Amino acid sequence: MMTNMLTLTARCPYCQETFRTALQADTPVVCGHCQKELQPRCPDWLLKESGEANSAAEPAPVRCLACPSTELFVRKDFPQQLGVAIVATGFLGSSIAWYFHQIIASYAILFVTAGIDVVLYLLMGNVLECYRCHAQYRGLSSLEGHEGFNLETHERYRQQAARLQEAQAPATKSAPSAPAASTISESTPS
Ligand SMILES: [Zn+2]
Ligand SMILES: [Zn+2]
Repeated sequence: MMTNMLTLTARCPYCQETFRTALQADTPVVCGHCQKELQPRCPDWLLKESGEANSAAEPAPVRCLACPSTELFVRKDFPQQLGVAIVATGFLGSSIAWYFHQIIASYAILFVTAGIDVVLYLLMGNVLECYRCHAQYRGLSSLEGHEGFNLETHERYRQQAARLQEAQAPATKSAPSAPAASTISESTPS
């Protein structure tokens, strides 16, 4: 069975930089910027899922590596800019063909680019994302037991982050830094 490389993209809780690292069994997760080790070091649930068949039906305990959150959601690992770019290219090409009275070509270009979009979407793997810190886990072989995006949960975490930021505001007044709610990727499934 092919095992994809498991990677984590997260914002380091120590230095606040965004880093990407491979996750391996019995290997501590280390931030590439400040070299600090994240807790906990060895995620049982990740190993379980990336290993061979997950025979036990019970859902593995889930906890984000970059923050204490236990709520994660699954979404398609599809860069929205790419999707938009393909559609825009198709539209442009189609318009040019239309201008030159190449009606069939005009439709064909639209059809083909739309098809590429669909195929790409289907080929793209899933990514597991943390609601709280937006850490992203790629390369999991099984996402069983994880649910898709939930707007309510997302909103709850968003408000929590806003409150936390408010509470911390006086303490961090001297050093205006990025907002508490990290924004590795604001893209949410539509
Ligand atoms: Zn760091
Ligand atoms: Zn997290």
